[in-house]
Amino acid sequence: MRSLGFTATGADYWNQMAELCCSCGLCTLYACPEELFPKEACDQSKQNMRAEGVKYVQKHPVKVHPMKEGRRVPLKMLMKKLKVDNWNVHTPFVEVNYEPSEVKLKLKQAVGEPSIPTVSLQNRFQKGM
Ligand code: SF4
Repeated sequence: MRSLGFTATGADYWNQMAELCCSCGLCTLYACPEELFPKEACDQSKQNMRAEGVKYVQKHPVKVHPMKEGRRVPLKMLMKKLKVDNWNVHTPFVEVNYEPSEVKLKLKQAVGEPSIPTVSLQNRFQKGM
């Protein structure tokens, strides 16, 4: 974020690094001490790269960071910061007999390739097929 806002590193360098972001949102929601929006900056960079046809190129072999274990986010702290800890209560499972008249399955919900359907539009199915 500092590189993006306050130096002349250049958007190309930033864009390349943004490709490694999985958009989990941890930085924006939890980790950024300056309350900036790194996830959204990465999302924008990925959009820019897609528009320009730029793909990330891994220049060095990938290896696990030695501080990986120490960088894990404590779940209780995360829940507290997101103000969802009050909702962490036991809820009983209630079974209902729900039969929708229509089901929509979105085939592209992530950055990767969209799923390829094996059925066609307007196909009808029966329960248990
Ligand atoms: S940059 Fe933020 S949103 Fe992207 S992977 Fe890292 S923590 Fe998650």
